[in-house]
Amino acid sequence: MKQVYQETLHQDYGQFFTISHELYREKTEHQDLVIFENAAFGKVLALDGIIQTTTGDNHIYHEMLVHVPLLAHGNARNILIVGGGDGGTLREAVKHPLDRATMVEIDSHVIELSKEHLPELSDGAFDHPRSEVIVADGFAFVEQTDQRFDVIIVDSSDPVGPSAVLFSEEFYRNCRRCLNPDGILITQNGVPYLQSDELKNGHRILSGLFEDVTFYLATVPTYSGGPMAFGWASTSPDPRNTPLETLQARYAERALQTSYYTPDIHKGAFALPPRVSRLITG
Ligand code: SAM
Repeated sequence: MKQVYQETLHQDYGQFFTISHELYREKTEHQDLVIFENAAFGKVLALDGIIQTTTGDNHIYHEMLVHVPLLAHGNARNILIVGGGDGGTLREAVKHPLDRATMVEIDSHVIELSKEHLPELSDGAFDHPRSEVIVADGFAFVEQTDQRFDVIIVDSSDPVGPSAVLFSEEFYRNCRRCLNPDGILITQNGVPYLQSDELKNGHRILSGLFEDVTFYLATVPTYSGGPMAFGWASTSPDPRNTPLETLQARYAERALQTSYYTPDIHKGAFALPPRVSRLITG
């Protein structure tokens, strides 16, 4: 009988992964961490019973998390990544002409073990000259920093354990404080068909803090339950309305090699089905 990893994110629905080889398991100071190999998705990182990312489908999530805001903004020099310990978000970020990408990750074990067992995810980004990696609570970082950022990307786990504070009004208020004019905040906002409260709460809180708030969607096979939502919050409607031709020009100038993101998918991702729109408009 094959060993199986059963995800425990949802009460009445779930997914399992057969484990062809367990690479590492540890209860860190912050969370239960498992890295294993699965025949369908390659290597898998799970935290506290929830699938975080896989070598098989991570590019969808990381490309949409990074290239949408950075190509919409067009001139981001200084960005902040909160969470993202596996390094996939940083990998995509350093492909852009930034001055610096600062990553604030609470659990050093996620970084170190991802470097060791999942090097494909970071692909050297942790050592990139424009990367700065800080081990700290992202909540406290944005509360205390005097730095300003053009884009803030919250690559958090789901709102359980150490990530819960990254879905709070106080955290988003401090993110707003740390953004430059025309700044953009992007959040990991769960799967609307199964985590509708996460979307509703995110929209309610962000709408009270930002001028332009919406969501965009992408389907990541191992984030089970349908398309996942990325929260979009900006101090101006302009970045979201960047014309397709401009996105195409920036995409070409930066010679981005992508497996999922294209400027057309960027624009299309903001088209929300009525069932999701109704969660936002009530
Ligand atoms: N792609 C995943 C998803 O959509 O759920 C997220 C992956 S990434 C591994 C999530 C990271 O957030 C983890 O490494 C976790 O340690 C980190 N994290 C959780 N709470 C945090 C906090 N308060 N400050 C900084 N990092 C945090």
